[in-house]
Amino acid sequence: MERGDAMDFGLSPDQEDIIASTRRLVDRVIRPVLAANPKDRALPKSELVKIFKAVAEQGILTPRLPEEGGGTGLTLLDSGLAFEQIPPSISMSMLSQDSFTARLYAECSDQQKARFLPDVISGKKIACTGSTEPDTGSDPRGIKTRLRREGDMAVLNGQKMWVTNISACDIILVTCTEEAPKDGRQKVIKIVVERDKSPFEAREIDAIGLNQGFLGEAVFTDCRVPLANIVESDSGTKVLNKSWNLNRTFVGLQAVHLAQRAFDQALEYAKVRRQFGKPIGAHQLVQKNLSDMATAITTSRYLCYRTLWMMDQGLDVDGTAAMTKRYAQMACHEAVWQAMNILGAMGLSREAGIEEMYRDIRMLPIPDGTNEILALIHGRELTGFEAFRGVAPRE
Ligand SMILES: Cc1cc2nc3c(=O)[nH]c(=O)nc-3n(C[C@H](O)[C@H](O)[C@H](O)COP(=O)(O)OP(=O)(O)OC[C@H]3O[C@@H](n4cnc5c(N)ncnc54)[C@H](O)[C@@H]3O)c2cc1C
Repeated sequence: MERGDAMDFGLSPDQEDIIASTRRLVDRVIRPVLAANPKDRALPKSELVKIFKAVAEQGILTPRLPEEGGGTGLTLLDSGLAFEQIPPSISMSMLSQDSFTARLYAECSDQQKARFLPDVISGKKIACTGSTEPDTGSDPRGIKTRLRREGDMAVLNGQKMWVTNISACDIILVTCTEEAPKDGRQKVIKIVVERDKSPFEAREIDAIGLNQGFLGEAVFTDCRVPLANIVESDSGTKVLNKSWNLNRTFVGLQAVHLAQRAFDQALEYAKVRRQFGKPIGAHQLVQKNLSDMATAITTSRYLCYRTLWMMDQGLDVDGTAAMTKRYAQMACHEAVWQAMNILGAMGLSREAGIEEMYRDIRMLPIPDGTNEILALIHGRELTGFEAFRGVAPRE
């Protein structure tokens, strides 16, 4: 920016349109599906496909894809404005779909892209990426899923845990290592598994929140996959870092979404609920709590927007995205907690619905970097010291 240029915090008319049209989509397609299905379990797959197709038509299912790859050419900031409007039980699934698409687009051969991507981009097929395992979480080095070569087939054995979309997926990018590498050197391999051609078992894991979304585990037992499905690119780490930075910021926006809804409800309640002869919103401490919540939501939202804007400028955001997700998730978690309190006992009821937001937001510190891991990533950038595995300055 030139010296003297003003900083503009306003949204353009196009950006206002993106927000308004996404809200209409949520009201027209997503909320009716969520309302018509049990709150305590994953939606039927057909409902997720219906939602994905509508979201894809709106051009916000795979925001990371460039136009030449089938994307709509929205900036990441504009995609974030849309993403923020979507209930997180659905937007978490969208994030998984988009991560798969972005990684394949960046790493696959043209032939593989043509085979795997069109049905995922259009929302006809559900996709996911499986890295986490029972013994491998924050530190990906211990991956135990093994690939064995037999002729022109790969044979996969192993287990993946806590994978978004896995029980509903048609296609998954699996991270594994080779059983007996030719040169004796173990390296991470990524392979695309199409479930109809290479079946594997998958089931939902019952967790505290995001219950209408999809989070589960899968077991691969002698699962035979064409060797042609191996993703050969060596740009993996670079793509992965970019992918994580966006995921982290988008998870921050999921926290903002939940806190904003909880705040709106608490504010309305504070205006009508009367105690000690006046609305509770007229009591000084309730106003202070509302002020704390509004501050948390505003700072979190602008931090997310700024990080997306930085990514759109091509700036390095490794530390900033880590800071963004950690701060937004913690600040908004506190805001949802405050909102529940403003409703008193009613805040704890299923009927009021804030307890669902409280359970949903509790899911967010874990995916795409736990709070501790994010603090270490940010701290590494601030100090130049690598705290994960020793104190040697970063190269
Ligand atoms: C909603 C949700 C969606 C997910 N989606 C996917 C997905 O699509 N695909 C996928 O592969 N996985 C997914 N995951 C899994 C997620 O990536 C892992 O759960 C996460 O990486 C943490 O791993 P872990 O649960 O094994 O915890 P661990 O890594 O075992 O960590 C346990 C605790 O130790 C702390 N810790 C670990 N190392 C350090 C350290 N060096 N210093 C300080 N503290 C440390 C952690 O912060 C944490 O508090 C998802 C998880 C959730 C909750």
